[in-house]
This record gives sequence, structure tokens and C-alpha cells, in this order.
Amino acid sequence: MIYLDHAATTAVKPEVLSAMLPYFTERYGNASTIYSLGREARKALDAARAQVAKAINASPDEIIFTGSGTEADNQALNCAFALQKKGKHIITSAIEHHAILHAAESLKKHGFKVTLLPVDEYGLVSPESLEKAMTDETALVSIMMANNEVGTIEPVAELANIAKARGAAFHTDAVQAVGSIPVDVKALGVDMLSLSAHKFYGPKGVGALYVRKGFRVAPFIMGGAQEKNKRAGTENIAGIAGLGKAIELATGDLAERSRRITALRDALIEGIMAKFPGSTLNGHRTQRLPGSVNISFPYVESESLLIHLDFEGIMASSGSACTSGSLEPSHVLMAMGATHEEAQGSLRMTLGDENTEADVERTIEALGPIYEKLKAMSPLYQEGGKSRV
Ligand code: PLP
Repeated sequence: MIYLDHAATTAVKPEVLSAMLPYFTERYGNASTIYSLGREARKALDAARAQVAKAINASPDEIIFTGSGTEADNQALNCAFALQKKGKHIITSAIEHHAILHAAESLKKHGFKVTLLPVDEYGLVSPESLEKAMTDETALVSIMMANNEVGTIEPVAELANIAKARGAAFHTDAVQAVGSIPVDVKALGVDMLSLSAHKFYGPKGVGALYVRKGFRVAPFIMGGAQEKNKRAGTENIAGIAGLGKAIELATGDLAERSRRITALRDALIEGIMAKFPGSTLNGHRTQRLPGSVNISFPYVESESLLIHLDFEGIMASSGSACTSGSLEPSHVLMAMGATHEEAQGSLRMTLGDENTEADVERTIEALGPIYEKLKAMSPLYQEGGKSRV
């Protein structure tokens, strides 16, 4: 089996699982209680908060644990309500994850104006376009740090600077970035940042929102006084302990892991481009996540490629996991100016720690006969497309 879908999710590392297990059984206390079992849970919570803070150069009291990356994103956009004294305009980009896009869409129902910044052919948001879109009413800007479909890394520090200069708050969805590339909230100058454990070998269903000291974030889930009244609900101690351990591991040897995975990524890109004339790389050639490969194959539909790869034991994806299975072309590729056909024929392969050179070679080799078979069956190819490649 070759797993090439690390942007969708990753396996929990054994050390992470070991850090979690005691909190399901012998240390099952509620962190809000005062007896020893509760204090143990509280200690685990504090330790994980320190681990997350250290990994992104924040302080522990700037970290709110959430139930997912999606929830962290929703909570960040929900701040638009508290910020509306400045104005009811928010800015985001056309290539955000739906956790941002759908939250922004729902703000429209409350009278907010939402501007979606365009991207260039590589998926980059230009600082000039943000500059132009900013108005005196702009209260909140949210631009992702790295795109989940094509891996393009956005110039977040520059974008945050522009927003802050005009008095707007800035949030970045760093769900795909944390654990893959260095993330330093101070260097970025952001007010809020979202992350999610299952993208860096931690458990699913636990995330965090960084909130800069002095920035007031409104609660999104209402109830008890957990997370200093910023996120109600009995804490998922096992999940949070797993998040802490996973972020410590992923950022501890980041440079070495990144070098290794980048080499695999480049071998996969170069191998495919050389073997399949007419295939095109989606996203920026260098300003991209270490493990991210997204390639459009002419004349074929990615769903067919995925099914045939699955028969060969290779797991990849098309677009984001949340939209695969639907026949809608990727909103990210369409925003980058891809044709319908290019978007439909795009294959996302995202590499991770356990992949090897042999996996890359085997994938390129397996794609050969699959592509030839699908191309021969393609009406587009038979309709004289041959001359176009
Ligand atoms: N934002 C981005 C960029 C993502 O890739 C994802 C997950 O695919 C999310 C947000 C949502 O995170 P979660 O799966 O933890 O809800």
C-alpha cells in the first residue's frame, strides 16, 4: 500500500498514541475538578498548551484548544461580529478551505460584505490586490498560509502587514502549514492562526486557535468556563495531549523531514512531467509545501485515475478530500484559471514521513498503463485531441 494523501489526514504516530492512552483510562479526570485526578488532567492540558505555544513561537495563554481546524477557522471568522464597529467588510481569498469560505458566506446573511481576492496562475494572492481591496470598513482579513489542494505558500507576513496598517484584524488558516514548514506567529504578525492535529500525525477532532495577546476573541461554542471562557465544553484531554506531542515531534526535526520530503516531491513531479507530455503542474514550482504534488493529466478524469490507482494499492486524491466524490471542478484550480478539463483531470498526491523513493518510482510506473488505458477510452482524445499535445 502506498499512501499519498497526507494533506487529507495522517496516521497517529506511536509516540503520540502513547501520550494519549492514559487519559482514556486511568487518568480520565475532568480538568475542571479540584481532586488529584482532575489536577492530572489539568497538568496534561497545560503541558500541551506549552508544547503548541513553543512550536509556533507563542505564549501558552495565547492558545485556545478547539474541536478541529474547521472550528478554529469558524471561531476566527465569527470575530467579525465583535469587530463590526470598524465596519462590516471582510476579505478572504477565492482558494480558501470551505471552513473559511462557508463561514464567510454565512456572514453575508448578517449584512457583511465579503470580498474574495483572486489568485494568479500559481495560486498566489498578491499583496497589491489586498491593498486595493482594503477599505476603511474592512474589519477582518483571513488568508490561508498554505493551500490544501495545490500546496502554494502565501506571503502571509506581507499580507498581515497590509491589513494591520489599515487597522483590520488578520487571521491565517495554517492547518496545512503547521508541521510542514516553519510557522512563527510573531514573524508573521497575525492576530489569529488555526491549526489541526491530524495533519501532522496527531489525532482527528482536535485543533487550536492562536489568539495574539491583547486581541479579544469571542467564544464560538457557548457553555462552561473552559479555555478561559473562549471555548466551552469539557476538554478532550487525550486528544489535546496527542496534539501537544504531535506538534512537538513535527516541529522538532522539521528541517530534516522537510528536506527529505521535498526531494521525494521533486522526484515525483519531474518523473511524471517527463513521462506524460501535456501534463501540467498546478501550483507554484518552488513556493509550495514540501509534500505537495498536484498535476493535471489531459483527456482523463481524475476520479478514474484515482480508482485505478486504488486497484494498484496507491491512495491519492483529487482536489480536497471534502469535495472529492462530487463532480464539481475544484474551486481552487478554477480560481487559478484552469480550464474545466484541466481541473477535472487533476491528481493530488501528498507525501509524508513514511514515503520512500521506491513509493515514488512505483507510483510513476503504475500511472503509465493506467493513463494510456484511460486516454484511449477518452472521447476527448478520440475527437482529435491528439494534435493538441
Ligand atoms: N483548513 C485547511 C486548509 C484544511 O486543509 C483543512 C482540512 O482539510 C481544514 C481547514 C479543516 O481542518 P479539520 O479537518 O481539522 O476540521
